[in-house]
Amino acid sequence: MAIDVGGIGSTGRRELEQALRGKVVWPGDRGYDTARAVFNGMIDRRPLAMVRPVDASDVVGCIEFARRHDLPLSVRGGGHGVAGNAVCDSAVMLDLSALKAVRLDPDSRTVRAEPGLTLGEFDRATQAYGLATTLGVVSTAGIAGLTLGGGLGWLNGRYGLACDNLTSAEVVTADGRLLRASAAENEDLFWGIRGGGGNFGVITSFEYQLHPVGPVLAGGLVYPLDMAPRVLRFYDEFVNAAPDELSTAASLALTPAGEPMVSIAVCYCVPIAQGERLLRPLRRFQAPAEDAIQPMPYTVLQTTRDEGYPSGRLHHWKSGWLRHLTDDAIETLVRLVPRMPSCASGVGLQQMHGAASRVPASATAFAHRAEQYDFLILSQWSDPADSEPNLAWTRALFEAMQPHLEESVYVNNLGDEGQDRVRAAYGDNYPRLAALKATYDPANLFRANQNIDLSTHTAGGP
Ligand SMILES: Cc1cc2nc3c(=O)[nH]c(=O)nc-3n(C[C@H](O)[C@H](O)[C@H](O)COP(=O)(O)OP(=O)(O)OC[C@H]3O[C@@H](n4cnc5c(N)ncnc54)[C@H](O)[C@@H]3O)c2cc1C
Repeated sequence: MAIDVGGIGSTGRRELEQALRGKVVWPGDRGYDTARAVFNGMIDRRPLAMVRPVDASDVVGCIEFARRHDLPLSVRGGGHGVAGNAVCDSAVMLDLSALKAVRLDPDSRTVRAEPGLTLGEFDRATQAYGLATTLGVVSTAGIAGLTLGGGLGWLNGRYGLACDNLTSAEVVTADGRLLRASAAENEDLFWGIRGGGGNFGVITSFEYQLHPVGPVLAGGLVYPLDMAPRVLRFYDEFVNAAPDELSTAASLALTPAGEPMVSIAVCYCVPIAQGERLLRPLRRFQAPAEDAIQPMPYTVLQTTRDEGYPSGRLHHWKSGWLRHLTDDAIETLVRLVPRMPSCASGVGLQQMHGAASRVPASATAFAHRAEQYDFLILSQWSDPADSEPNLAWTRALFEAMQPHLEESVYVNNLGDEGQDRVRAAYGDNYPRLAALKATYDPANLFRANQNIDLSTHTAGGP
């Protein structure tokens, strides 16, 4: 008698298991609930099967199985995407989190890294050689989703985005081919995976250019919120004139005691003595309540924020690019931040500048090349009973900030916000991305992502 294993019959179960060397976690298995959990605790979805490939051939096997049985497929790297697209109801999840090999060549300063690595694991491996490349600022996130959407972090001013440092990748496409994408091979695909997310295939290996990095001069300055107008105005002018070697971020949040505050964080990534001189005006124009800027290993900087973002909290984010911290924008923030319902939430302004901003907007799929801030209302709380006030506050602040924000948004901050926002995230590169989608995935097998959905695409217009 055929037993139905959560939607895939026993024949299908045998077929999938025989196609792989890796393990499959099925509904009812011990560990099923742990394996389907992602960073954002709002997401509670039940896949039909979770496949843990051990190599690229397993990825091919899983893709062919999903296609043959017309099953939806989701792809999980580090599981930190706030939209939770890594896991879907009634779908096969390709869980790449066990693929963590790193092969570093110190002579060429390049590294081949598998897609299950977290930022922290990648940084530890490359810093063993005194090398690094731009990644994000919380070490538990995955390199895969981060790089495919862009990748903004402490080295962006000097070395560009994570995707700008990608030199090649191995990609399994919807038809089960394993392709190499680089400037010399499948150049169109290489263009698309640098900002176009997981729309074109499953990346089984990333190759990055590395750079000598560390120690760095980094840390934060903290001020009470009533100083925010003066602090943020000075900050905006200061960072606009800053060299590439300095990358910064500002944030507004509540202390654990509920006191609103504003902070400025910095990372100067080349000789520390020059950084000390450069940062003097920022550290002195107004006495902070706390000055924690100091030399530190790059791996320490990369983990300083981890504690604030444990897995499993409930998250709701709203975001947009912000060109300047105008007086009106600052006034809006100062008015609404103290009403934040959760002490764990925050408003972040991560600076994108220098090398990251100078890449031509059409050179990679990541379209938003300008000196600007990635403005993010990051709401997080623990008790589902608190959801309503947190959602309402996030919506109210986002609404109030609308006049100050660009229409565009960073794809890696996007929740489940509809096609207009997806188009805003891909910007002027959307038509070329749609053409690429038609070439590599016309049936939209890879749709559990910020999806380039050809059924909603009108020819000739974005
Ligand atoms: C606490 C926190 C801090 C963050 N800080 C930063 C930051 O400083 N800078 C920044 O740029 N971003 C930052 N982000 C956003 C981050 O870039 C995204 O959450 C990103 O999606 C994380 O990648 P992941 O592999 O962990 O996520 P996943 O949820 O595993 O993946 C996200 C999506 O990427 C696709 N995908 C993943 N792996 C593959 C693959 N191998 N092949 C094809 N498609 C794939 C899938 O469509 C998947 O749904 C942060 C996120 C969090 C939660």
